Amino acid sequence: MTAQVFLQQLATIVSPADILHDAESLANYGRDWTRLHTPAPLAVCFPRSTEQVSNVLRLASEHGVAVVPSGGRTGLAGGAVAADHELVLSLEKMNHIGAVCTSSRTIHVEAGAITDAVQAACEPLGLQWPVDFASSGSSHIGGNLATNAGGIRVIKYGMARRWVLGVKAVLMDGTILDMTTPLEKNNTGYDLTQLLIGSEGTLAVITEATLKLAPIPAATQVALFSVGSMESASDLLAFANTTAGARLMACEVMSRACLDVMQKHSGAFFPLEGNADYAVLIEVDGRDDTDAENCLTQIAERAFENETVLHAVIAQSAKDKAALWRWREGIGEALAKDGLLHKNDIAVPVMDIPAFTEALLTLAEKHRLTPFVFGHLGDGNLHVNTMKDAGASLDEFQKAMKAWNAELFVLLHDFRGSISAEHGIGLLKRDALKHTRCAAEIALFRQIKAAFDPRGLLNPGKVIVS
Ligand SMILES: Cc1cc2nc3c(=O)[nH]c(=O)nc-3n(C[C@H](O)[C@H](O)[C@H](O)COP(=O)(O)OP(=O)(O)OC[C@H]3O[C@@H](n4cnc5c(N)ncnc54)[C@H](O)[C@@H]3O)c2cc1C
Repeated sequence: MTAQVFLQQLATIVSPADILHDAESLANYGRDWTRLHTPAPLAVCFPRSTEQVSNVLRLASEHGVAVVPSGGRTGLAGGAVAADHELVLSLEKMNHIGAVCTSSRTIHVEAGAITDAVQAACEPLGLQWPVDFASSGSSHIGGNLATNAGGIRVIKYGMARRWVLGVKAVLMDGTILDMTTPLEKNNTGYDLTQLLIGSEGTLAVITEATLKLAPIPAATQVALFSVGSMESASDLLAFANTTAGARLMACEVMSRACLDVMQKHSGAFFPLEGNADYAVLIEVDGRDDTDAENCLTQIAERAFENETVLHAVIAQSAKDKAALWRWREGIGEALAKDGLLHKNDIAVPVMDIPAFTEALLTLAEKHRLTPFVFGHLGDGNLHVNTMKDAGASLDEFQKAMKAWNAELFVLLHDFRGSISAEHGIGLLKRDALKHTRCAAEIALFRQIKAAFDPRGLLNPGKVIVS
């Protein structure tokens, strides 16, 4: 049967107005933030209920049409790319946000709800969905769960999978799995909700979720420290862990190269003396502002006594806090303004960060690269960006980055690290999966994929080749 017949039948399941195939929509909905693949979907479809999703997937299965689940398309791994005549299934019109249940501290939402909109619904009750990152104004809860999103406060709250009780999802053959449950405890065999979280739309389409919520801290306080080495940064983290304990909200590191580019593009005044190799931002929570500030002061005192830090500044106002955070949060944007970037989002065991960084710098020197290193020191997740030389052609840069990745991934394997800490595998890292997952794991991945989607029609080619 032709694509035209499929599209005609599709228009009997969803309203014809909920199917787009103009060039602009195909280009827009056929890609995510990676911008590395040319979008070429067959059409974009906007179901409005789980039943419609089920009927659309069943029809697509009957016609052998591949389907790409699509959220806010802020993904950084090419997971939502549709470049081969797939049907893009956008959840954007399934964005209902239910009432907060304060006794169970939960909220029930449809998968297309924007992350920030869910936060806005919880905040008046002093609650939050504690998964916090820069793209939350556009990303969907469904995309956050499909990628098991992390963010800046993972050290305190963990990743998205910790904040879900259950999901409703649809298999490629149209079967609906309703696992939304208000139960906090449910030890009844395999946890399929957790299997779907982080599966990047390759096993099922998530249509609804019951999310767990956490109280918003009464007060937070932020300090910025300069340190002479990654080893000192790591020592500072150890002081923070033993002084602040569970109150540590974030511990972020930025290399001098990042701070210089940030300074150049922001024009802001860097609040610490000298040109130390790294800056570390620490955020803690407290019973009130004084309590949080005392906690940071104790960390700073211990760090100065042991000559771990060179300089420190503690925010004195909400404006100060935002300005200190800007040195961390503005790096991605500043680097993007400076040149074409090649990005790696990697993880190593927290205690190995100093040794890994040293090995990374040696490797970068061998490749004649300046690595821009920044990220979540507290949970071992570093962003390692490299930039195209103004004099190099795109082709030369791509070849150089292939060679760089090849050796970086081997180094990561040696350190028991991960080629993707948060962003997922998608299309971008698929061929490098073997550096982090062993052959037996990848073989099981294939069997799991075959059990959920035997014909390989759901988000084909992402994560693994079936
Ligand atoms: C500026 C910026 C900052 C970022 N910071 C972070 C960060 O700190 N931490 C972090 O983890 N990520 C970060 N990201 C990456 C990205 O925002 C997250 O991965 C986010 O969770 C993706 O959500 P989305 O709705 O945009 O998903 P999409 O990009 O639309 O999709 C991502 C994947 O999920 C699948 N998918 C989407 N919806 C569904 C669904 N309903 N059912 C099944 N599969 C689905 C897609 O097929 C795709 O494989 C950042 C991105 C940007 C642009």
